[in-house]
Amino acid sequence: MRHYVQNTLKAAVTFEGIGLHSGTSAKMVVLPAAAQHGISFKRTDIALGDTVIPARWDMVERTALCTRLVNAAGVSVSTVEHIMAALAGCGVHNARVEIDGPEVPIMDGSSAQFVRGIMATGIQRLGAPVRAWEVLKPVLVETREARAMLLPCDRLKMTFNIDFAEQGIGNQSRELDLRNGAFARELCDSRTFCRRVDVEAMQSNGLALGGVPGENAVVFDGPVVHAGPGLRHSDEPVRHKMLDALGDLALAGLPLFGHYIGDKAGHSLTNTLLRALFAEPGAVREVTCDPIRTARLPGQGLVWSEIPEQVRKAA
Ligand SMILES: [Zn+2]
Repeated sequence: MRHYVQNTLKAAVTFEGIGLHSGTSAKMVVLPAAAQHGISFKRTDIALGDTVIPARWDMVERTALCTRLVNAAGVSVSTVEHIMAALAGCGVHNARVEIDGPEVPIMDGSSAQFVRGIMATGIQRLGAPVRAWEVLKPVLVETREARAMLLPCDRLKMTFNIDFAEQGIGNQSRELDLRNGAFARELCDSRTFCRRVDVEAMQSNGLALGGVPGENAVVFDGPVVHAGPGLRHSDEPVRHKMLDALGDLALAGLPLFGHYIGDKAGHSLTNTLLRALFAEPGAVREVTCDPIRTARLPGQGLVWSEIPEQVRKAA
């Protein structure tokens, strides 16, 4: 029984820093939660009204550049995708996230510090079996330039393709089976990226105000790459897109068994895909996981010694 139960954190863990888009500093505390709670956010800087925002696909406000959750009272939290990916990738099913500002700290632009903090704090098993979504038939959504798809699969698998004219990015593809520690090993330290031309456009729209090239975002500027000491992986951009997709898929509310295929997809399209999945009759069902199914989940069995050294050292 103890090997296929839901998880939370052993204790609270705190992260502090500025938000990528707002430039506003915030303190975020990730706290243990009971079985069946799922992941929720709470704005502690707002005194009145309903300040709890469940981390769920139907709370997502359509935005192109980050994932923003808004509750019925209009209380919001932005850029949740990297902490959601870290929780999903470490196999944390239940947590309460308290934050005293409008946006999750961007940290170094990746999920590395979140993974380090979660794993250093430790995983607590709870007395209830894991529930998950099982994709039963293919669901596809597309725009003129991009598409996202979910196919039935006995684990969470991801295939991603990006294609940028920018010479430092180009065409990148990767496929990954997200069982166990794959997220911590392969994806979690890959950083947010953009092109120099996008930075200027974003900042004139009041976005990316907290962005520091090379420090919390990789910026591609023709032949010049602002990446701090250098890229962490030769295909860091596509790995980051997969990190984002895991965070956005975690908004399904439970782990997902399915094969996600993203072709130039982004936050908005992945959310549209979840909406299509839950709207399509017979496309998905909730299952209670037996030990064999649980053993295939992201984060299951992940141990500290398996975490890459550069992530363990992420300050
Ligand atoms: Zn991201």
